[in-house]
Amino acid sequence: MRDRLKVNLENIKQKGNYRAIRHVKPLDASWILFNGKKFLNLCSNSYLSLHAHPQVIEAAAEAAHKYGAGTCSSRSISGSIELYRVLEDEIASYKCYPSGLVFSTGYMANMGVIATLTEKDDVIFSDELNHSSLIDSTRLSRAKKVIYRHRDMNDLEGKIRKDRSKGIKFVVSESVFSMDGDIAPVADLVELRNRYGYQLILDDAHGTGVFGDTGRGGAEFFRLTGSMDVEMATFGKSFGSFGAFVLGDKIVTDYLVNRARTFMYTTALSPSVLAASIASIRLIKDNPSFRDDLWGNIEYIRRHMRDAGFDLKDSIGPIVPVVVGEDAKAVEMQHILMEKGVFIQAVRPPTVPPGTSRLRLTVVRSLTMDEMDFAINVLKYAGKKAGLI
Ligand code: PMP
Repeated sequence: MRDRLKVNLENIKQKGNYRAIRHVKPLDASWILFNGKKFLNLCSNSYLSLHAHPQVIEAAAEAAHKYGAGTCSSRSISGSIELYRVLEDEIASYKCYPSGLVFSTGYMANMGVIATLTEKDDVIFSDELNHSSLIDSTRLSRAKKVIYRHRDMNDLEGKIRKDRSKGIKFVVSESVFSMDGDIAPVADLVELRNRYGYQLILDDAHGTGVFGDTGRGGAEFFRLTGSMDVEMATFGKSFGSFGAFVLGDKIVTDYLVNRARTFMYTTALSPSVLAASIASIRLIKDNPSFRDDLWGNIEYIRRHMRDAGFDLKDSIGPIVPVVVGEDAKAVEMQHILMEKGVFIQAVRPPTVPPGTSRLRLTVVRSLTMDEMDFAINVLKYAGKKAGLI
């Protein structure tokens, strides 16, 4: 086995695709220490910077003191602590669904939903740029898989019309795409659902807390809050915590409790994680200014990058893709940024399609004007050196 691994790893290295774990130390909401040097972290998904909010931290610490560091068993085995009930009620009510179920990660939530709700004669239509957790879940499902072109409703409709499967049709899409930062045509997906009667599953991992007038996410952005058949999102992004949730009718969450293996056979989240997520939901609901500040930063960074000549594709929110193309060139640009004190990872295949390696930078609420100006200047310098602008 070792010989094979060695050869495969060598191959990965030659393609400029090798990943090594970088050990870092967070210093505050935006800065990290890496190899003894300070870096501005421009790749966190904590869009509202809530992972560093004193009330979230305090809630986590208090819960650990009160209930212990871990739950140390699955929810089905040793019972579900009260914090779960509070969190599930509050997230379902915030996102306007009858019922919510918390999973330990978004990856597991997607596995649970897609592999459990679909069956052999069903068909899953999936956007070609869906997140790996959605791709892997679809692979795990026994349903037929059909990939439609990214955000292309004509292609989706054509494929639905052609399909002769006997079972239930499912359409799966992210709301805000994690690597491209563009948004799915959710209103069209709902309109097509009304026409073709499929089940619409929306992954709102990058929309929740950020998009929509009240931060309820990608569906709210289209004035369609609470109207997906199943919606999921994570607590590890704008909530600044960890874990994920699935929303829908009570019969859906009941079914998942009984059948989703990624729910049943895993240890429950720690009390501090649950308490942090509850604190974050309340902060998001009570502080619309957090979103205003974030969108102010998004607008500022995007304007300066566009003025500098960067092609930001169709992205519109905090995820800003700088597509470089070749893997090695993306890594080279990452090195230039790192040299200047900006921490951004080159994102390469298999995370993104071949030939579209990129720098994926994320804008967060805690960035100050000085930090943004610093980032913009470094990006311009690196963009020029890499021949992008
Ligand atoms: N869906 C999307 C769109 C994501 O971007 C991610 C994580 N990056 C997940 C699901 C998985 O969530 P988690 O990190 O909680 O496993």
